[in-house]
Amino acid sequence: MKVLLLGGTAEARELARLLVDADVDVTSSLAGRVARPRLPVGRVRVGGFGGVDGLRAALADYDLVVDATHPFARGMSANALEACAAERVPLLRLERPGWEPDPAWRYAATHDEAAALASSLGERPFLTVGRQELARFVPCLGGLAVLARVVDSPGIDLPPNWRVITSRGPYTLDGDLEVMRGHGSDVLVTKDSGGSYTWPKMEAAAVLGLPVVVVARPEPDPRASVVDAVGPALDWVLSHR
Ligand code: NAP
Repeated sequence: MKVLLLGGTAEARELARLLVDADVDVTSSLAGRVARPRLPVGRVRVGGFGGVDGLRAALADYDLVVDATHPFARGMSANALEACAAERVPLLRLERPGWEPDPAWRYAATHDEAAALASSLGERPFLTVGRQELARFVPCLGGLAVLARVVDSPGIDLPPNWRVITSRGPYTLDGDLEVMRGHGSDVLVTKDSGGSYTWPKMEAAAVLGLPVVVVARPEPDPRASVVDAVGPALDWVLSHR
């Protein structure tokens, strides 16, 4: 039994480790966006498949697929659904739950809406939405003293009054308090990533009394079989042995 594990998340690395321990033939797939990715144990392939058609061709080598990509990586998840349905390869979606909503947070349906909301709430936003989304915040926040935290340098021209810091979680409450106090952040912008790695900024915002703008997750595809934890995903794979 050969398993393709679409990864790029902590949950995918954890599942890869458990599958390798269980002697399952698993190949983790990474998009190749990050310069120095945290590599899972076991076999790894890097780079896109070339859309649905490329993924369909690649599926000839696999019996099962687990899509454990990030909750906001909807393009890859949509391709996996389509390709696996066409090739009749069983597919499971592993998606960590979003954060329990806090009445103090303001949800935005899109990044553009989050940008508009943030500009109405503060003048020194702390942006933690990922490198690929930064450009969408420039029209609304271009004139503000933004601090943007990303894993890799964005590689695009940003407004001169923006400061970019590159770092990668997991973060700590003390560390995030220091970053936000140092910048004088007055509003936090984040996606609803869920999980613990990036949770401390939410605690820090609460400690500092800052408004928080949360970009809501895109709607999941109702056709997907979804589990929200690594244990059930492991059980699902092992049930196909
Ligand atoms: P996306 O928009 O859903 O996917 C765009 C394209 O990137 C896909 O069509 C596919 O290219 C390629 N791709 C994405 N994930 C891949 C994977 N695991 N293996 C091989 N190819 C992959 O994805 P994204 O939002 O750019 O995220 C890229 C990767 O970063 C994902 O693996 C995700 O788990 C990870 N990540 C994303 C975020 C986020 O906020 N979006 C945060 C943390 C980690 P082809 O069409 O050529 O196959």
